[in-house]
Amino acid sequence: MEKPVLVLNANFEPINVCGFERALGLMVCGKAFLILNGRGTIKTPTSVFPIPSVIRLDHLIIRPRPKVALSRIEIFRRDNWRCQYCGGTAKEMTIDHLLPKRLGGQHSWINLVTACPSCNHQKGGRTLHESGMHLLRIPKEPSCSAAYVFSRYLNENQEWGNFLTGW
Ligand SMILES: [Zn+2]
Repeated sequence: MEKPVLVLNANFEPINVCGFERALGLMVCGKAFLILNGRGTIKTPTSVFPIPSVIRLDHLIIRPRPKVALSRIEIFRRDNWRCQYCGGTAKEMTIDHLLPKRLGGQHSWINLVTACPSCNHQKGGRTLHESGMHLLRIPKEPSCSAAYVFSRYLNENQEWGNFLTGW
């Protein structure tokens, strides 16, 4: 599969991940520059292009500080795929509402935690207090650092590490 390309803003802030063709298109028309190659080259009948791993935009894109979108996967990721009651893992983790939906519990970062099926079953439709169960840590909205946002790519693209720290 084609490897993703990390896109840096003009000030070196990591802002996006795109595909090879998009990255090459930006480079060819002068909107972005190669920062890190490391993946060899690709030949066309008339030219040779580097296969980028990291590119940097020529112009600064102004944008609001991003937020992590709330989803099941992001809840699991925030909790390191561990049950927030027993600390265990299971093949199919579930989402528990601390304050159950029927009692007005919100679909929010602070009311949703990762739970293994057996802890979820044990807690049932009760509040945390009623269940007598304890959380490993208080759930909150994850910080939107570049290292967190792009961490899913790091295993496959370890050379990005230096570009992600500090943002
Ligand atoms: Zn558990």
